[in-house]
Parts: sequence; C-alpha cells; structure tokens
Amino acid sequence: MVSPATLPSWSQVKYIRPDRKLLAAPPRKPEWEEFFVRPAQDCINLPKIVRIVCRRCRSQKFDDHKPRWTRQITPRYILRRPGCGNCHQKNTNWRPEDPSVMFIDPSHLSRKRSCLKENPAFDPADVIQHPDWYFPGSSET
Ligand SMILES: [Zn+2]
Repeated sequence: MVSPATLPSWSQVKYIRPDRKLLAAPPRKPEWEEFFVRPAQDCINLPKIVRIVCRRCRSQKFDDHKPRWTRQITPRYILRRPGCGNCHQKNTNWRPEDPSVMFIDPSHLSRKRSCLKENPAFDPADVIQHPDWYFPGSSET
C-alpha cells in the first residue's frame, strides 16, 4: 500500500515507481540469440571449449569456455570478439584455431535478424523448425 503522502498531490501528474526487478535485470541479450543460438541441451556433442586466434597478428589466442553454436543442422560456432593483447584493436577479427570448425560472425546473424523483422510473413517458430532456410549462406562468412 502506497501512503497518500508519497503520491503527487495533483492527480493529473503522471508518476512512476521504479520496479526493483526491472532495475536489477541484467543487460538484454542480442535479439538474434533466441532465434539462432542452439539451446544448451543440443550442444552436448559439440566442443566445450573453442580456441580462437586473432586473424590480424595470428599469435594471440583466446579460449571460449562458453561457445555458442547455431541451430543449423551442421552447427557453426558463433565467433566472439575479445580484445587482442597484441593488436590493441577494438574490433579484432578472430577465427577458430581448428580449421575444421565452421564458424559465423555474429554481425551476419544480427543483420539476418533485422531483415526477418522487416518481413511481415516471418514466423519466428519457423526458424527453429527449419534453421537452414534462414541462415546466411556459407559464402557470406
Ligand atoms: Zn592480434
């Protein structure tokens, strides 16, 4: 119960009370994740750690302990972009050290998501059913 003294005295003044839960909410995930990221239970047979290498200096390595994979039939590793200690570049490009690991840059997924959003016929459930129809072709990576 809110005591009347805490409300604006003029009833037409709009007010809002902060919601503790909303204020404490962690930052939102990128919108594409729910469509394109393979759920954890479907990643059991996939590598648990993916080592990636900076494409620029080719010496800096980074172990991704929480690799994200696409929902595709042949899952692709979704690249991370950690800072490179050698290059000191913000948007360093990386690739998996193991050349057999197929990968995709998250910017492709984000772009794809934006295109789908503009399409009124787009049904999100369909991506989950037929992931390969929706993914950017391998030529785009
Ligand atoms: Zn580097």
